[in-house]
Amino acid sequence: MQDFLSTQQPIAIASPLPRKSRQARVVWRNNVVTVGGYAPVRVQSMTNTDTVDAVETAIQVRQLAQAGSEMVRITVNTPEAAAAVPYIREQLDRMGEYVPLVGDFHYNGHRLLTEYPACAEALSKYRINPGNVGKGEKKDKQFGQMIEAAARYDKAVRIGVNWGSLDQELMARLMDENSRRAQPWDTRQVMFEALISSAVDSARLAESMGLNGDNIILSCKVSGVQDLISVYRALAQRCDYALHLGLTEAGMGTKGTVASAAALSVLLQEGIGDTIRVSLTPQPGEARTQEVVVASEILQALGLRVFVPSVTACPGCGRTTSTTFQELAKRIDDYLRGQMPLWRMKYPGVEAMKVAVMGCIVNGPGESKHANIGISLPGTGEAPAAPVYIDGEKALTLRGERIAEEFQTLVEDYVARTYGTTAAAPA
Ligand code: SF4
Repeated sequence: MQDFLSTQQPIAIASPLPRKSRQARVVWRNNVVTVGGYAPVRVQSMTNTDTVDAVETAIQVRQLAQAGSEMVRITVNTPEAAAAVPYIREQLDRMGEYVPLVGDFHYNGHRLLTEYPACAEALSKYRINPGNVGKGEKKDKQFGQMIEAAARYDKAVRIGVNWGSLDQELMARLMDENSRRAQPWDTRQVMFEALISSAVDSARLAESMGLNGDNIILSCKVSGVQDLISVYRALAQRCDYALHLGLTEAGMGTKGTVASAAALSVLLQEGIGDTIRVSLTPQPGEARTQEVVVASEILQALGLRVFVPSVTACPGCGRTTSTTFQELAKRIDDYLRGQMPLWRMKYPGVEAMKVAVMGCIVNGPGESKHANIGISLPGTGEAPAAPVYIDGEKALTLRGERIAEEFQTLVEDYVARTYGTTAAAPA
């Protein structure tokens, strides 16, 4: 091994590169969500209710917001949906939930935003897909009607291009031009160029129509991890608009979670991306809020944000023949997450707390000492005792059948003592 003192360079500590985009503002009442610039990377989500059902939609928006979504997008696809938007907003305001609503428009957004001014006003941001605003001569006119509404009501706009609905006229023109190159590009590269051109050219057109460029956010979504990385690296070089990241149609469960985490992490580490959404297909019976949980976990794992206290749990091995520690880890994780809507207001700073739930003596005491509060459960063959560590010191040992309940009470007491408004600031 090399002599430590003769090592010339300390090991570089990895951290995400700074972001460089302009800053947009997505506003509802006194809730101003800044996007881009020095603002934290924001979490977004989208409802899957029928927007016409204002009550059901408002309930789901609230659930998503309480899970940590800082903006929630809703489908606005019909006159009935546009008419329901102000009622959804009203329901949320009555509940004291001022999360900004984003309207998702395709094909008829120009008509809906013009004919339903209360809808245009109740939304805080419009998502416009340049591939779906109209064809031929109508395209710029209809796009202009939506931009005019955004400028009139001072709303942010996301120009959201998606490879599933890419402007086919633009793609055909670029393919045609590409065929005249001495060395034509790969079709995939032409498609990437079409995605980026569609977004950037539409943003510049919107600015020329009077929209404040700071209030424009761009996205170019594709469903392949490497494709998304390629497109966003180029897009970030091509403009300084704030960027919304997401892998479109990420899929279900583990596949969607892993693919989103892989793609978004690479880009976020490079300082690319100002808002994110994880487009998970919910598994039967799974809560819609899962996409918010995954998005938050990605940002928290990268050290970009802290949303909920983290639970460090070991994977278990041959030393843990019972499921006790798995059940305790899940119980504590669910408990912490469930408490956060209340704790966020009552115990500022609690989101940075670390809790360890470990399976045996090998790494249990060490990992527990690194946490604010940790428990090392007895592995196979160990004495039936579970030492608890608080702020790096062994505080007590739990025994018997009620270890889970007692540890949860200890966590609850620690939170009140450490993060309560009368408590001393945590070290
Ligand atoms: S801490 Fe113990 S139980 Fe957990 S994985 Fe390590 S050796 Fe196995």
